[in-house]
Amino acid sequence: MRLLSTRSLTLLVLIAAIVSVVAVKTAHQTKAMNSTTELSTNENPLVMKWEGPYGGVPPFDRVQIPLFKPALEAAMAEQLEEVDKIARNSAAPDFENTIAALERSGSTFDRVTTLYGVWGSTMASPEYQAVQREMAPRLAGFNDQITQNEALFKRIEAVYNSPAKAKLTPEQQRVTWLYYTNFVRAGARLSPEAKKRLSAINQQLAGLFTKFGQNVLAEETDQFIVLKSEDELAGLPPSLRDAAAAAAETKKQPGTWVIMNTRSSIDPFLTYSDRRDLREKAWRMFVNRGDNGDEHDNNAIITDILQLRAERAKLLGYATHAHWRLENSMAKTPERALELMEAVWKPSVARVHEEVADMQALADKEGAKIKIEPWDYRYYMEKVRKAKYDLDQNEIKPYLQLEKLREGIFWVAGELFNFNFTPVTNVPVAHPDIRVWEVTDKTTKRLIGLWYFDPYARAGKRSGAWMNAYRNQERINGEITTIVSNNSNFVKGKPGEPVLISWDDATTMFHEFGHALHGLSSNVTYPSLSGTAVPRDYVEFPSQLLEHWLFTPEVLQRFALHYQTGKPIPQELVDKIKRSATFNQGFATVEYLSAALVDMKLHLAGDKKIDADAFERETLAQLGMPKEIVMRHRTPQFLHVFSSDGYSAGYYSYLWSDVLTADAFGAFVEGKGPYDKAVAERLRKNVFSVGNTIDPAAAYRAFRGRDPKIDALMKKRGFTTKS
Ligand SMILES: [Zn+2]
Repeated sequence: MRLLSTRSLTLLVLIAAIVSVVAVKTAHQTKAMNSTTELSTNENPLVMKWEGPYGGVPPFDRVQIPLFKPALEAAMAEQLEEVDKIARNSAAPDFENTIAALERSGSTFDRVTTLYGVWGSTMASPEYQAVQREMAPRLAGFNDQITQNEALFKRIEAVYNSPAKAKLTPEQQRVTWLYYTNFVRAGARLSPEAKKRLSAINQQLAGLFTKFGQNVLAEETDQFIVLKSEDELAGLPPSLRDAAAAAAETKKQPGTWVIMNTRSSIDPFLTYSDRRDLREKAWRMFVNRGDNGDEHDNNAIITDILQLRAERAKLLGYATHAHWRLENSMAKTPERALELMEAVWKPSVARVHEEVADMQALADKEGAKIKIEPWDYRYYMEKVRKAKYDLDQNEIKPYLQLEKLREGIFWVAGELFNFNFTPVTNVPVAHPDIRVWEVTDKTTKRLIGLWYFDPYARAGKRSGAWMNAYRNQERINGEITTIVSNNSNFVKGKPGEPVLISWDDATTMFHEFGHALHGLSSNVTYPSLSGTAVPRDYVEFPSQLLEHWLFTPEVLQRFALHYQTGKPIPQELVDKIKRSATFNQGFATVEYLSAALVDMKLHLAGDKKIDADAFERETLAQLGMPKEIVMRHRTPQFLHVFSSDGYSAGYYSYLWSDVLTADAFGAFVEGKGPYDKAVAERLRKNVFSVGNTIDPAAAYRAFRGRDPKIDALMKKRGFTTKS
């Protein structure tokens, strides 16, 4: 059994440079389990043990949507039976018959939900979505049935409090602690009445989360801007015009161009549209999602969610929801997370004032006769980039071929971790575009695992890029190797034509591959502690760290090759990219950090009744928010925080991980450079291979020889005081 709360972390998503969303299984509904199955376990291929090479591989070729429901039902029933057997064991509880037994349970459930999850993120047809609507609450209820099993918790508690625990290995002690603490945090120690109230709160919250998300989705779907003339398209590059024309088709507005109310549509429009009036209109539409005083308004929902969360935290014995959420994080307390955010806040605001001054000067020089407003920021920022650095994104692209960069990340993995990648064709895939590589140790030839690569966009695939683990490394019952995947949404080129990607996309590729390497390097015994199953404010550290290797001359000279001439990217262009690395970091940091600060303060406010709009306004005023910038996610549309508990009081995590990232890369810089084998070995040994077997702060200290310092982050973002 992999604990649901940790397993959910294996799906790691990167949507934009600093904003990723981890899909979270919320488990707050109870419903009677219906265990009738239409097919017996023996007949349903989704339930069967995985067969084939590499210790078995996912049977992607045998998936049919109607098989999911009976497979999930059979898997849940099987695991409940296994858990019940553990709970009712007449032998005195010990590590083997309780914790290890739980770790051995649920293998069918893991296999079935892996396939189900892959379809949910990459093949979600309407037929699949109908199954999902039916099964989501039942899966949530299933989780509650386990954590509220009193006999089971008593055994876990007995092992946790037993003097015999001291004789267990550190990893066994850690997994015991994880079970105990997760059950307690889910209310296992409460009185029957308190448990009942907790369940009621959880169910109410689940309903509010769904409503919140649907309201935002409705406003993103129903609201859009129709452009009707060339004049209204002024400034838009061809790719954006094409996308707007395609959007017009889907919105049944033939002969026009449509700007959708989504980030991927609005951000480029704000960057390129010469029409200031339309920029303002688009900006207002986007930042007011969920805040229009109509039937999709989220303000009242937020008030209710915050009050229920505060009540739940008190019930569970915590000062606030933030204290409950952060207990098992690396930061440990909201105060420490706030301390970091406040340290970065002032210098980033100061940088924003400089950026605005640059933009204002440029606008004045052009005779625009305007004062920079929020809907001008991206537009003038792009102009300043060209003026200051002579850097045009379109100049870089011809050197960034998707397949060459894939070879580049393989090469980096070989240099840092001694991995070798060999393509294989003897395993089934969910779609013909997906390719698979076998990963082995270069020296010993030992099998490390499999890496699936699903690079292209298609209908039913979620946007963004992410890593997923199909099977975690473990050795509780002999050596099990891992199976991981990287997924993205590049537009497939014509046959024989290379796919060219942007610098940002290349960075994202390295990022997601960092998550994959974190999974592949795993060297643990117990599956709940394996690979990327680490605290949320630590999980982005290995991935953000890998981004640094794109910039190494070794990678650029070998793999950033012009798609026509085969020549490496000119040093002059690399220098331009390097010089502009800290450009616009004021905007990016303040936009993100204001949202992270409001998130944390909302969840520290306790159970007083909160008016979201007023709270946001007053908090930003107190912080001294520059008026030219709006929060990356305003409260009424903050899906990270209000569509599940996922990132509630947790949006700070990206910054926290980035402190580690910047500081960790310093270890290479201080050594022999990015390919210093000794530093890489320390990184593998203490960070990439240990999963959640040790406290992340201790793991980091073992790697770096000290606690992380904030200086490297300040330098990376260009916030160090000039001296
Ligand atoms: Zn990530």
